[in-house]
Amino acid sequence: MSTNAANTSASAIALYARETAGFDARVASALALLQRATAEHPGRVVQATSLGAEDMVITDLIARHQLPIAIGTLETGMLHAETVALIGGIENRYALAVEVYKPVNESVVHFVKTNGERAMYESIELRKGCCAIRKLEPLSRMLKDRSAWVTGMRREQSMNRGAVEFSELDDKGRTKFNPLADWSWADVWHYIAVNDVPYNPLHDQFYPSIGCAPCTRAIAVGEDFRAGRWWWEDEGAKECGLHVQDAAPQVSMIGARA
Ligand code: SF4
Repeated sequence: MSTNAANTSASAIALYARETAGFDARVASALALLQRATAEHPGRVVQATSLGAEDMVITDLIARHQLPIAIGTLETGMLHAETVALIGGIENRYALAVEVYKPVNESVVHFVKTNGERAMYESIELRKGCCAIRKLEPLSRMLKDRSAWVTGMRREQSMNRGAVEFSELDDKGRTKFNPLADWSWADVWHYIAVNDVPYNPLHDQFYPSIGCAPCTRAIAVGEDFRAGRWWWEDEGAKECGLHVQDAAPQVSMIGARA
């Protein structure tokens, strides 16, 4: 887990943090949106954190302002050790319990036995099947008794996310709050630097967007923000289904692969 103490010339903070006009107003707006979420959904709102930089900013805002928003994450069984370590890092730093949702073991075993360890590289269908078991089903448990959730989605992250709203309804009618929708990458890192927010050290190794280990790589200079996620697929397919409307898991079909 990195902190500002690890701020070297190669750190993500040194590379990306920059204060730009309107930063304080964007922080105030993000906080106001989180407060609105708690007022409109008392006891029924969760932050679904990927443990990425944006989500660490949101967790810091929740903790700093003692907002009654639960913190939940998906431990897919395929995360980097650095990412898993951040769960304990949050609990230590903020004295907040993190709800950890794991996939159903039998489903994982069946999928791997049927499709192999490297199924995600073989087709989009199989990759989405893996995401359905390891992410979508656990997410459905996280959201089961909730009427709202909070994400770290930003418009700047990709073309697919260019129209992200501050709040929207998901395909189950829950409200999804995206308090950093209008933040830049520089904003995210400026907030992390100023507030000494713990973050995943993989960000210091040119991983701007971090998911499961087999599906994440570092990016090179000039590459798109999410170029390191599912890099073997077309841009339009690069979502795991967590933020796609009507993304019904097709698990049974995937499991029947010849
Ligand atoms: S991101 Fe990759 S490893 Fe993780 S659930 Fe999706 S396909 Fe499986």
